[in-house]
Amino acid sequence: MTAATRAEIDRELRSLIREIPNFPKPGINFKDITPLLAKAAAFRSATEAMAAPFASDGITHVVGIESRGFILGAPIAQQLGAGFIPVRKPGKLPHTVERVDYKLEYGTDALEMHRDTLEWGHRVLIVDDVLATGGTLKATCELVGATGSELIGCSVLIALADLSGLTAMRHWRVHSLLRY
Ligand code: AMP
Repeated sequence: MTAATRAEIDRELRSLIREIPNFPKPGINFKDITPLLAKAAAFRSATEAMAAPFASDGITHVVGIESRGFILGAPIAQQLGAGFIPVRKPGKLPHTVERVDYKLEYGTDALEMHRDTLEWGHRVLIVDDVLATGGTLKATCELVGATGSELIGCSVLIALADLSGLTAMRHWRVHSLLRY
């Protein structure tokens, strides 16, 4: 991809991310990516650019975090020739799960992943839409780490630079397509 193309894509994607002040709580500036998802070319170029840095890493599985990590993670898995594994809110997965509790920008939560999905020898990329405080990604790294598989890195569409997520994730390989 040329620099000019990259800059154009960057501009196009930013123009399709809507900011919703005070959603879902006062003080949160919510990044609404639904306009981007609704535009076929932008959706495709976003997921291609999120997958590209990991194209030579032999990724075997993409782990997507509920729920926008599913939307972005599934096409990225297909582009990388990898399988897709959902990490979900508690009580949603039907089989035996591994669980981790974590802090969110707004509140606390927990995440679960099926226990029998990842194992030694698998090479994993975690995908989500927004990196804010880093609690969600760190928790997912823990879930993946507990499986014995190799965590290669994380790919997010947006990193919020004024929150502590990039610092919290400094020991992992994190690619963020857009920084705000
Ligand atoms: P955090 O754990 O604080 O890094 O928060 C990341 C998770 O919360 C991601 O799964 C995002 O979907 C969601 N999130 C946090 N902050 C925002 C925001 N400002 N806009 C949209 N989603 C957000």
